[in-house]
Parts: sequence; structure tokens; C-alpha cells
Amino acid sequence: MLSADLVLRGGSVVTMDAAGTVLPEADVAVADGAIVAVGPALEVEAARVLDVRGCAVTPGFVNAHTHQCLLRGTKEDRPLETWLDELCFPMEHALQPSHTVAAAQMNQIEMIRSGTTTFVDMYRHLSDIAPIVDRSGLRAVLAPQIMDVGNGRGETWEEAEDFVRAWAGQHPRIDAWVGPHAPYTVHAEGYLRARRLADEVGTRVMTHLCETRFEVEEVTRREGVGPVEWLDRLGVLDGLLGAHGVWLSDDDRERLARRGASIVPHPSSKMKPGSGGAGRAAPRRAPGPPGRPPGGGGATPRARRPRGA
Ligand SMILES: [Zn+2]
Repeated sequence: MLSADLVLRGGSVVTMDAAGTVLPEADVAVADGAIVAVGPALEVEAARVLDVRGCAVTPGFVNAHTHQCLLRGTKEDRPLETWLDELCFPMEHALQPSHTVAAAQMNQIEMIRSGTTTFVDMYRHLSDIAPIVDRSGLRAVLAPQIMDVGNGRGETWEEAEDFVRAWAGQHPRIDAWVGPHAPYTVHAEGYLRARRLADEVGTRVMTHLCETRFEVEEVTRREGVGPVEWLDRLGVLDGLLGAHGVWLSDDDRERLARRGASIVPHPSSKMKPGSGGAGRAAPRRAPGPPGRPPGGGGATPRARRPRGA
């Protein structure tokens, strides 16, 4: 008889196989941290058995964009730009590592309770946050948030680079990407620097992208083209993970797909500050992120926080 560490008995098992099979009442056996058998009435001995009848058994959820912070619920009634400039950025600028650590502990407990097993965090003090991920057992992509302009600046480019070099590809559950904040807070040279660093250490770039109408209009006024084409001309679109993509044109979507870039939509998050929905955010025919898992905790209630949480 098969032996296992854990058996989940009698749940509706969502297998996520190619055919989309759902087993209405089945067991899942786990040994050494891996699923070793799935099926109805498994003959298996296990140290721990959980009766999960009436529950859905699914793969872990992936939160592909978050900022582990304590800003949830602060000022619910403002457009994104006002919320960022008057509240979010000044608060973030004042953060000490102890605040971010407390936020990460709370956010990761919440993610575990919600069934999230992997997240992508773009935020501050990540050298203090990585050990918390190590202890929590979650998988994470940690991207130091970098800004050239604005009142939310935190760690320097040098500190961000040190973190990425130290953590990219160095831990079985933790990876490090490069996180230039957004086309309205990072100069061209910043995006080029992000691209160079990512290429050098073999990792990826993530950024907020086409999050608001303001962003598209501002970049178009400044650069003569929209944010997606601007980043493409800079050569940073390849394999990019873009958060939000609310204001993508058809040309943007085609361009993202050609470059193997991915978009993480957050429709409820974006509706909250009135940034718009995200019904057509996904690039056409774009592949998912290759290789390392896309990873995301929590900011605003229900929706994560407005700026891309
Ligand atoms: Zn964000």
C-alpha cells in the first residue's frame, strides 16, 4: 500500500490537466512535499488524514502583483494620482523596515489563509522581507521598487541592484526581479538600467504599465508614443511583467504578445479609484511567464491596493 505524509479525502479535485478534469469526490496523497497520487478511494496509509468532503481541492493561487504594505483602507475615495501623491507615496517614503516586516508577516498569513502559494511583491526593504518568505514556506518573486522621480522614493538603485544580485536564482522558493515603478516615475535611463541588470543576472523586469489614462497621456505627451511603444523602443519589453494594463490599445496588445510580455489585470483594484476596468487587458496570444513562477499580498481590501497591488 502506498504510504504518504498527508491524504486529503473526498474533496472535489480540480486537477488542472489539459482536459480540465474535475473529480467530484476524490483523494489526494502527498509525500515529501509532492502530490504522489490522485483518485477516488485511494488505498494509502498516511500520518495525517483530512476529511475535505464539500471542499474544492485546487492548485495554489498565484498573486502576480502585490505590494506588501499596511496601507489598506487608507483614503478609499480618491483617484489614483491624488491617492499616490498625497497619501501613498509620502507614507511609503516614511516607512521603516520594521513597518514593512510587519506588513509582510500579516500579508503572508492572509495569503496562506486564502490559498495563495506564490506571489510577486514589488516593494521596499526586501532584504528584510526575503527571510520572512523563507520562514513562511510561500514562493515569492521579490522586486525592489525603484523610482527616479516622485515623493515615494525609497531604496537607491545601488541597494536594489545589490538585492537582485544577492537573491536572483539563489533560493529554491524565492527569486528576485527588477522593479522600476512606472513610466511616469522612472526615466528612460532607469528602464535601461533595469534591463541591463536583468540581462546580466538572468532575471526579469516588472513594472506598472498603462494603469491609468493619465499615464498614457503623460507618456504620449512626453515621448510622442504611448508607454508600451516607449518601453519597446527602449528594449525593455521582452519578457516584461506589466501590472494592470487597463489602457492598452490593440497595437499595444499585439506588441506585448510579440515580445513575450505578460499583463496582470486587477479589475476590482482599478475600478476602486475609477481607473477603469481591465476586460481586455491580456495580450493576445501572449505566453505566460516562462521559467520561474510569477509570483503578489495584499494591499487594498478585496482588491489589493489601487496602485497595483
Ligand atoms: Zn502595484
